[in-house]
Amino acid sequence: MGGRHALSRWVAGYARGVERWNERIELVRGDITTLEVDAIVNAANPALSGGGGVDGAIHRAAGPELLAECRTLGRCPTGEARITRGYRLAAKHVIHAVGPVWRGGASGEAELLASAYRHSLRLACEVSARSVAFPAISTGVYGYPIELATQIAVREVVSFVRAHPVPEKVVLCCFSERDRAVYERTLQSIDAGT
Ligand code: ADP
Repeated sequence: MGGRHALSRWVAGYARGVERWNERIELVRGDITTLEVDAIVNAANPALSGGGGVDGAIHRAAGPELLAECRTLGRCPTGEARITRGYRLAAKHVIHAVGPVWRGGASGEAELLASAYRHSLRLACEVSARSVAFPAISTGVYGYPIELATQIAVREVVSFVRAHPVPEKVVLCCFSERDRAVYERTLQSIDAGT
């Protein structure tokens, strides 16, 4: 993965067992729109209508054709994802994933967030994306606590990577140093438990 930024890299631990899953997951801090990957995931809303946060940044960087294609897709239920072209982005595809709004944790948020990650990974696999980058879905305006969301993100990505050869590389892209540190701790705890 060749991002333009000096990005903090997830340093793979010692490979345990035959599957070196941890070498296929990379942790970076930066702006997801600048990453040179085959697909980037957007934290979209169900209307796929663009918005603030990472969604706004992706639409600005991709150009108006992205919204035009999104408008042809209709709504996307929470927990699912839709794929479009990347237009002016370096990424060939944008995967628009709809995570849940945090309502306290008893409204199925964990399963919906996990499902948004799984749908996105399946779509990346279907288009044979060699690399895909995720933002921390739902942890901005949607209010999902970062520690809880990170556990789900990491668990889903690790189990998908273990079960599938494609995408070869999954980049977890954090916008803040604080979020990056949470991801790093979570990755280390999974690595230690393997
Ligand atoms: P949601 O509505 O799903 O919560 P947000 O866009 O508000 O989506 O936030 C999701 C995450 O994306 C937050 O962690 C936020 O800090 C992060 N984020 C915002 N802009 C960018 C960007 N350009 N690149 C990567 N992550 C970003």
